[in-house]
Amino acid sequence: MMSADCLSNQRQQLSSSELLSCPECGLLQRRVALGRGQVAHCGRCGGELYGVPSGNLDRPLALASAALILFVLANCFPVLGLDVKGRHAEAALLEAALQLRTSGMSLIAGLVLFTTVVIPAMELSGVLYVLAPLKLGVRLPGQLTVYKLIHRLEPWGMIEVFLLGVMVALVKLAHMAVITPGWALWLLGAFVVLSAATSASLHPDEIWSRLADRPQADAGSGPLCRCHDCGWLAPEGDRGLCPRCGSELHRRKPDSIARSWALLIAAALLYIPANLLPVMVTTSLGGTQADTILSGVVYLWVSGSWPLALVVFFASVMVPMLKLVSLVLLLISVQRRWQWRALDRTRLYRITELVGRWSMVDIFVVTMLVALVQLRPLASVDAGPGAVAFGAVVVLTMLAAEAFDPRLIWDALQPSDATLSPEGGRAAMAAQFPHASPAPAGNGVRS
Ligand SMILES: [Zn+2]
Ligand SMILES: [Zn+2]
Repeated sequence: MMSADCLSNQRQQLSSSELLSCPECGLLQRRVALGRGQVAHCGRCGGELYGVPSGNLDRPLALASAALILFVLANCFPVLGLDVKGRHAEAALLEAALQLRTSGMSLIAGLVLFTTVVIPAMELSGVLYVLAPLKLGVRLPGQLTVYKLIHRLEPWGMIEVFLLGVMVALVKLAHMAVITPGWALWLLGAFVVLSAATSASLHPDEIWSRLADRPQADAGSGPLCRCHDCGWLAPEGDRGLCPRCGSELHRRKPDSIARSWALLIAAALLYIPANLLPVMVTTSLGGTQADTILSGVVYLWVSGSWPLALVVFFASVMVPMLKLVSLVLLLISVQRRWQWRALDRTRLYRITELVGRWSMVDIFVVTMLVALVQLRPLASVDAGPGAVAFGAVVVLTMLAAEAFDPRLIWDALQPSDATLSPEGGRAAMAAQFPHASPAPAGNGVRS
């Protein structure tokens, strides 16, 4: 290994914009030029780092505008229509959330409203508020704050999960009524595609740089700190604020372990009533039937829709449990500074974070059924107390995953400062992958 002097000399030749730190393992790396369509991945943990900046904002602007128009239209039409014995009912997205409130489930109504209406609308109007003035070369107040907010809210927009919930509701209702898919269903499907394309066409680093109105200091020679919001590398102790976006700087997420444990314990306690109490109560002429999550899965299975039964079982029963178990394992492993299979533990964290939101599917199934089946005295569906506990489990496990800092996994493998120096990073990589060729000071580039 090179001496500390050589190391700082070498780093002084690089500016902050040429360096980056992997958000998942903390390895410091030098940016490499990418070809068209290529994406840079971390040389150590394989996490995605950055793509090729397009240099033009027309594409994301056009896609975000189109997605927003589709979203507004989707809110004007029903998602599903239902006909049974001469009675007709239909429900639009907003109505569905409000119907839950009418049946006394304000908490769940709020959660559904937030994840399917408020966040998607805020995200897209936020993108337009940030990009349109940038394109025109003008500045509007609060653009930087809005862009930060978009990043933080991204995992909470759940239209694609809602659509899966609508599919399950459709299958559940098909035996008792004639179900007609409404216009909103197709519009929301197109919205999901366009909004994914908008995210893919945005190059966050490019936008952060355009938005920054402060001078972006050089990396210097001291230890570096990665901004949690914009990813900029700033010298530690620079009055604690990111020179690019102004967010508070922390070497690791503050109180990561304590916050994750607290959220996780609360989620584990609520997991019990979430599975034991009914999430849905159906009242019909034949009597009243209360359904838990598991009995809902059994119903789908015996009615012949086994693929959907498997999807719901996986999303609603397995995913929350696996999330709880994986996060407990990750937390114990970083607290005990295990060196065992750091790469696999990082992958486990990545999957945990990715699949968590799909557990919301059962909440959306209940939402659609409550909205459509209010055909008293023939039949009516209401949400049960289990739905509140289940919704809380999903939210708490998502927050726990967000609070956990995966870089803590790698901190146990090397002296804490080594992560923040190019040479230390390379040495750590050689130790982790003894048979790999010495890493170039850069990234694994994959197309
Ligand atoms: Zn990494
Ligand atoms: Zn920043």
